[in-house]
Amino acid sequence: MDPTSAQPHVVIVGGGIAGLAAAFFLRDEAVRVTLLEGSPRLGGKLSASEIAGVPVDEGAEALLVTRPEGTGLIAEAGLAADRVAPGPTSSAIWTLGALRPLPRRQFMGVPSDLAELARSGVLTEGGLARASRDLELPPTGRDGDVPVAGYVGARFGAEVVDRLVDPLLGGVYAGRSAELSFEATMPALAAASRQYRSLAEAAGSLLPALPPTPPPAPARPAVFTTLAGGLGVLPAFLAKASGAEIRTAAMARELAAQPGLGPRWRLMVGSAAAAEQVEADAVILAVPARPAGRLLAGLPGAAAAVTEFAEISYASMAIVTLAYPRSAFPGPGLTALGWSGYLVPAVDGRAVKAVTFSTVKWPHLASAAPGAEPLEIVRCSVGRVGEEALLQRDDGELAALAAAELAEATGVRGAAVASRVTRWGGALPQYTVGHLDRVARIRAAVASQPGLAVCGAAYDGVGVPACVATARAAASQVLAFLGSAPSA
Ligand SMILES: Cc1cc2nc3c(=O)[nH]c(=O)nc-3n(C[C@H](O)[C@H](O)[C@H](O)COP(=O)(O)OP(=O)(O)OC[C@H]3O[C@@H](n4cnc5c(N)ncnc54)[C@H](O)[C@@H]3O)c2cc1C
Repeated sequence: MDPTSAQPHVVIVGGGIAGLAAAFFLRDEAVRVTLLEGSPRLGGKLSASEIAGVPVDEGAEALLVTRPEGTGLIAEAGLAADRVAPGPTSSAIWTLGALRPLPRRQFMGVPSDLAELARSGVLTEGGLARASRDLELPPTGRDGDVPVAGYVGARFGAEVVDRLVDPLLGGVYAGRSAELSFEATMPALAAASRQYRSLAEAAGSLLPALPPTPPPAPARPAVFTTLAGGLGVLPAFLAKASGAEIRTAAMARELAAQPGLGPRWRLMVGSAAAAEQVEADAVILAVPARPAGRLLAGLPGAAAAVTEFAEISYASMAIVTLAYPRSAFPGPGLTALGWSGYLVPAVDGRAVKAVTFSTVKWPHLASAAPGAEPLEIVRCSVGRVGEEALLQRDDGELAALAAAELAEATGVRGAAVASRVTRWGGALPQYTVGHLDRVARIRAAVASQPGLAVCGAAYDGVGVPACVATARAAASQVLAFLGSAPSA
């Protein structure tokens, strides 16, 4: 008899970073773990593949080091030695006909230093004059949660919203500041804004103090890290190290609570024609909001969560990755431009919303390129929420559009030597106004279901570290339940 069969069975639904991290956190516990991933591939929004012979991420590519959960997971998985540091990173905004520096003294685009903002040239003279009024205006009251654009616009005017805040939020959520929640997307600034009359001062209070002489760019501590083969290698490592039974092409279709003393949960897995029953003592749902809502629909006590999940919409996007010979760029290559990429305000009417100069941001990619002539790899992000029509173009059209806009912004000449289009349908949850309350109601409804937990990007942050944090919490919740559940 299998000695582990007497152990409680935990089923994790979803094999993205959240589900895999939850499986990994349960690796040394007295539980048997099965992870069900609906698609044929593990990793969800983490995936890497080769372009022009270089492994490059197709989805998430940078891990924030200021939150310890992501780097901690990498260390626990034994991958710390594979971490690589970014090159000097400084972003530009492509607006008013030129690449212009993104001010350094800003918090998610909210400026704290109006003189630096003026020097950047990102705003018109009129926009700058309006932004300066933040320093004199009486406090802007707000009753509950509000859209980012409403509050920031009331302090600084529309140009700061359109040319700074919206592009930065677009880079993280693919969303628009007119709908996104101030409290959920900028919680630290929302809290600081209650203590300062000026929002510039509130933003400044969250930034590190300026050293008397600024250190040279390479000496600044890196904010991001990645793995040598891309963040996309992490899922396979976690799957193996977790010791869990990992099943791909195993779509969970139904979840039901079972009466009696046996395993509390029953899942129907696979196609309706050949559905298989899987029993579990505890279940972790590590899937986006829609599938989570569908799975909870069969549970009488979870109706509130089903309603709330339906309110969380997702933005779709595509990543167009282009490789060029270095000589295609003017001068000695992309590094000479002085940026690691640029953001594009939606008001400027471009298709591409953000561009990363991957070989500048991650110098190890430049040295990984095979062949005599060095390559430059550029990653173009297409699709803000509401721009679904743009994504209906075929791969060739999207790549051509991205290449044409890149040529206009950087002066690159000739065709790319390789291109790759990765489509991410339902890529990023939109934390719209009321998100924090919505998540609180979902969590309350889930907590009423013994042995059920949820994790992933739909809740407390879309970044990988935030997803990992929810995974650790979900693993702890099911362990606490199994520890206290009466044995069958
Ligand atoms: C293009 C892009 C770039 C990004 N860049 C970054 C970045 O640089 N840094 C960063 O920190 N974050 C980044 N993010 C955000 C981050 O990658 C995601 O928020 C995070 O990976 C989501 O992880 P998750 O496990 O919650 O969900 P997912 O990755 O969506 O995984 C959920 C999994 O559940 C599976 N599933 C769904 N329904 C079922 C079902 N019924 N049965 C079984 N399986 C099911 C899906 O197939 C999927 O594999 C990026 C996101 C995108 C789209």
